[in-house]
Amino acid sequence: MKVFYKNKSLQESLTNLKRSASIGFIPTMGALHKGHLSLIKKASTENKIIVVSIFVNPTQFDKKEDLINYPKTLENDLALLRTVNCDIVFAPTVDEIYNGNAIASHFDFDGLEFQMEGKHRKGHFDGVGTIVKRFFEIVKPHKAYFGEKDFQQLQIIKKLVDKHNIPVQIIGCKIFREDDGLAMSSRNVRLTKVQRKEAPFIHKTLKKAKEKFKEYSISEIVKWVENEFEKNDVLNLEYFEISNIKNLKSAKRKSKKAIYRGFIAVFAGNIRLIDNIALN
Ligand code: AMP
Repeated sequence: MKVFYKNKSLQESLTNLKRSASIGFIPTMGALHKGHLSLIKKASTENKIIVVSIFVNPTQFDKKEDLINYPKTLENDLALLRTVNCDIVFAPTVDEIYNGNAIASHFDFDGLEFQMEGKHRKGHFDGVGTIVKRFFEIVKPHKAYFGEKDFQQLQIIKKLVDKHNIPVQIIGCKIFREDDGLAMSSRNVRLTKVQRKEAPFIHKTLKKAKEKFKEYSISEIVKWVENEFEKNDVLNLEYFEISNIKNLKSAKRKSKKAIYRGFIAVFAGNIRLIDNIALN
């Protein structure tokens, strides 16, 4: 496994490999866990060369405090990556990527960017679009892997490559969970014991919402989820929405042809956790 910190040396190494090998790329912000590793494992069944980036992208954080508190564990991450089939790690500095000007470009994702996470984290998807586009330009992967854990991000990346004609195939990967159902996340290590014990309530509630989906109306299910969280002293609901996966708009009524998912964001103290579930 080779580790690169500079664009130039990474690109030189990739140019030598590129002609003969398919490149699978997994962008991450580090603090790696089994969820990240599941993306890498999937990628290694479909590609010759696996490239993982580790970069905490400042332009996608709407709150400075969240950026400062985001876990940074490079040595651990590299040790973990050595246990799986990872060929190349790209771990640039902020300056290497942004050249002293860490500002996001503006993107039009046909409205996907204004829903859910876009409403609650201003500028978040401009930051995501900026960094992923930049990484695609540097790595030039054949396939790139993104988790359904960040389902809105996955849909936005598909839109990004479509609108900008970027020659990469985007592969969505299933949400990887702890045994108790909590979606794995780099933020989970920041949870207190009490918060960690309570956090599986998020997935449990989503599963119950899924059970209710056939029988109840969307507004009844939303109300029910909101009530469940009102009774919870540890977790504060930021939003629960049922959305059509095509436009990610909050749905009011069910349509037979549409595919819906339930999307949730919850605060445990100041730690923000997100999750989602397929409903039909
Ligand atoms: P992050 O480091 O949080 O930016 O995540 C990097 C990639 O891993 C993104 O595509 C995430 O959606 C994906 N990912 C993070 N957690 C999980 C998980 N529990 N299951 C599946 N994919 C995940």
